[in-house]
Amino acid sequence: MPMKTLLIVLLALPCLADNLPPTADRELAREIYRQMIETKSGFTTGATTPIVEAVAARLKAAGFPASDIFTGGANPRKANLVVRYHGAGRRKPILLLAHIDVVEALRADWTTDPFVLLEKDGYFYGRGTMDDKAQAAVWVANLIRYKRENFRPDRDLIVALTADEEGGGPFNGVDWLLKNHRELIEAEFAINEGARGQMVDGKRVSNEMSLSEKIYSDFRLEVRNKGGHSARPVPDNAIYHLAGGLYRLSTFAFPYRLNDITRAYFRQMAKVEKGAISADLARVAEGNEDAMRRVSAASAPLNAMMRTTCVATQLEGGHATNALPQLAAANVNCRILPDDSVENVLATLKKVVADDQIAITIKTNEGASPASPIRPDILQAFERVSDIMWPGVITVPSMAVGGSDGRYLRVAGIPTYGIQGFFVDRDDVRAHGRDERMPVQSFYEGQTFLYSFVKALSEGK
Ligand SMILES: [Zn+2]
Repeated sequence: MPMKTLLIVLLALPCLADNLPPTADRELAREIYRQMIETKSGFTTGATTPIVEAVAARLKAAGFPASDIFTGGANPRKANLVVRYHGAGRRKPILLLAHIDVVEALRADWTTDPFVLLEKDGYFYGRGTMDDKAQAAVWVANLIRYKRENFRPDRDLIVALTADEEGGGPFNGVDWLLKNHRELIEAEFAINEGARGQMVDGKRVSNEMSLSEKIYSDFRLEVRNKGGHSARPVPDNAIYHLAGGLYRLSTFAFPYRLNDITRAYFRQMAKVEKGAISADLARVAEGNEDAMRRVSAASAPLNAMMRTTCVATQLEGGHATNALPQLAAANVNCRILPDDSVENVLATLKKVVADDQIAITIKTNEGASPASPIRPDILQAFERVSDIMWPGVITVPSMAVGGSDGRYLRVAGIPTYGIQGFFVDRDDVRAHGRDERMPVQSFYEGQTFLYSFVKALSEGK
């Protein structure tokens, strides 16, 4: 190890130790985290209600009055919890959001049981360790800590733990709360999942804050045909029509289009990277198409930041091995830039597949979700806490290429910021995948970060 690196490591050590919450709060967060992960809340097979009941009991035991705790949802298995921590009421509340459902996980696919929290080699393993039970557990633990410390914020802090973020469907907790109990979660802005800290080779390099997200949309491509006996084939074949259209789609890419947030993202990432990559990212921020081509060829996530994307995800077709197909259909999943539109993408898809036999319909149209403004108060609080905890780590505004519940809130007029402060190696993001894990140190440091960040946003007025 070169002397300079060694010095930095030595200097950073006391600082890292300071980033940990007090032992009792750490243990509390870990216990809530364990309980949440070991309660199966899979989108289709599980339930969020047992988690909600356990958290409600814990909050009551910590002295929160029952009248400040709401539990309920679209269906008895899909409960949400909303708890209010009262402040002086000088400003509108802040909503602290996390979803408590998870993507399904099969024991056979995993190295260990996905529904047992395992601490091993510096990681917490389990379904939801990253998405999104770390933030959910930390919100609850920090609220209990504020109460114990008699912290009196200048505004109410509202924690909402919600159902069915994954996979959409009719029981989404945020959607349900907005429609049925909006007053419970009415806030000046919300803090949610959607961005995290990035590590490269174990080193913290950037702390991200997401201000917008792409629009999720599914399209159905369908070809109908009269079919017939497969011993007497004709060129007009449903599967061939569809395959041709999908092939043309596979060679097509939507044009590059940056917005204020992605431009800022690439500008900041240019400071994180080194050498030729750094220079290319800076050129991308300036709109240089050659650099965009190089960057998108090298990185799928960065490509997704620069353009709308569409990809075939499911197929169906044919009804017998010895018959000409009467049906061939595909699902095409698109992630649309916030300033693009589903209608525009539909028109583009029709042009690209270039075959009148292929009928294209919009299966899901969640509508646009406006970007949240860069608020100086949030940015300053974020940078202040981040700079103290992780000197030299750059703050990066970003656009989430996946979706989150932030969409519902932004559409409802509650600006939403994806902020977590959990640092994960950028090449080791296992959310939705097998052996999902969270670095132990990152979990506890994120607990401290969110504790101090929320405090900074709610004291001093
Ligand atoms: Zn999530």
